[in-house]
Amino acid sequence: MADPAECTIKVVCRFRPLNSAEVARGDKYIPTFKGDDCVQIANKPYHFDRVFQSNTTQVQFYNAVAQKIVKDVLDGYNGTIFAYGQTSSGKTHTMEVSYFEIYLDKIRDLLDVSKTNLSVHEDKNRVPYVKGCTERFVCSPEEVMDAIDEGKNNRHVAVTNMNEHSSRSHSIFLINIKQENTQTEQKLTGKLYLVDLAGSEKVGKTGAEGTVLDEAKMINKSLSSLGNVISALAEGSTYVPYRDSKMTRILQDSLGGNCRTTMVICCSPSAFNDAETRSTLLFGQRAK
Ligand code: ADP
Ligand code: MG
Repeated sequence: MADPAECTIKVVCRFRPLNSAEVARGDKYIPTFKGDDCVQIANKPYHFDRVFQSNTTQVQFYNAVAQKIVKDVLDGYNGTIFAYGQTSSGKTHTMEVSYFEIYLDKIRDLLDVSKTNLSVHEDKNRVPYVKGCTERFVCSPEEVMDAIDEGKNNRHVAVTNMNEHSSRSHSIFLINIKQENTQTEQKLTGKLYLVDLAGSEKVGKTGAEGTVLDEAKMINKSLSSLGNVISALAEGSTYVPYRDSKMTRILQDSLGGNCRTTMVICCSPSAFNDAETRSTLLFGQRAK
């Protein structure tokens, strides 16, 4: 087994195919792929640990990215998979799950809708956790899927425009795994966080007011603080600014220490989204 104190951070990039509307409009397909770790937009190369082309299937992606993390979590590591990208770039498609969410920096329990503003506390080992968040005991993959479905339904009930709302909130799914070997009495715990981030597009840069402006500021702040934390970790910096947002605070013990973190940079291939795609790729490069 690898050194448990070791932390690995990977940044991979995935392009979705052109969708039917983009094809119908005759949008240009802009990425050119070089090997399996580089993508070029207008001759500018962007390098990642892996780059997945538009024809990558869910199974291929899972096998290449998620499988190893899931295996390491079962070996006692803390794993986190983030999906970053503009709305409609394939984040939710890539995670397949969506249960609490952070919206306007408020944490809402998606397994108990009566809990709408949970707070972050620290346990006696100073590990942050979401106080009062529903924990569901599950023993089988079916029970995990049931919990996911329940969270999804709650997300539907709570908001009128699901798509619009989901693009402006971060959703975090946490699987806590506790194993005990009945013969050796050895205990092993691991956590897996699946984080479907808010859309990274520049929301309402001009003319935004009220809630929309609050949302835009909060999203920009939490995504940039996440970027800062990941790049500090990737550089091996001694100061990591976890406390700058609720999300990075909650994920603190999963991002530092014995972690397996992968950021999936999701991109649209359409020329229509050229500017957002470049800024998404730059965010990913910064995190490396
Ligand atoms: P996001 O969560 O980033 O807003 P979605 O995951 O909802 O975006 O993706 C937008 C649309 O594109 C969905 O209809 C989804 O099924 C489709 N899509 C996304 N990624 C892929 C892909 N790699 N292959 C095929 N369809 C995809
Ligand atoms: Mg989504």
